[in-house]
Amino acid sequence: MNAPPGFRTGIGYDVHRTAADRPLVLGGVRIPAERGLIGHSDADVVLHAICDALLGAAGMGDIGELFPDSDPIHRGADSRGFVRAVVRRLAERGFSPVNVDVMILIERPRLAPHKPAMRAAIAELLAVESDAVGVKAGTNEGLDAIGRGEAIACMATALIRCGS
Ligand code: MG
Repeated sequence: MNAPPGFRTGIGYDVHRTAADRPLVLGGVRIPAERGLIGHSDADVVLHAICDALLGAAGMGDIGELFPDSDPIHRGADSRGFVRAVVRRLAERGFSPVNVDVMILIERPRLAPHKPAMRAAIAELLAVESDAVGVKAGTNEGLDAIGRGEAIACMATALIRCGS
């Protein structure tokens, strides 16, 4: 059954540890880096946070419930598949994404050169225009595990619409 017409917001957060022998994939984009993210899937913290923001807005649980990391089928998974599955589930309830905004906490590398590609990749997954996707990044000023480059985190908000 569809939710009542209107707008709803959600938030998401994710953090993964880094390691030297892992690729760095953020927002569905492979980024050249000395260290990548450890995880059961490709560990794309940006897409994971976006999934949780979308699911939260719809009141449909979280990414851990939908895609448990105890399930071997998700091993090494491309997280774009998670986002597509979340968007499909939302659509079944009459929800569609309006815009998302993400804030990435990362000490290195600098993400500025990669932001346009990340926005485009996220926009395509959500079937929205690139200007409906905010991608921001900042360091943690050398503080804590993120500041030491041992982890990368991402916060996300999403607005979704039900009805036209
Ligand atoms: Mg995650």
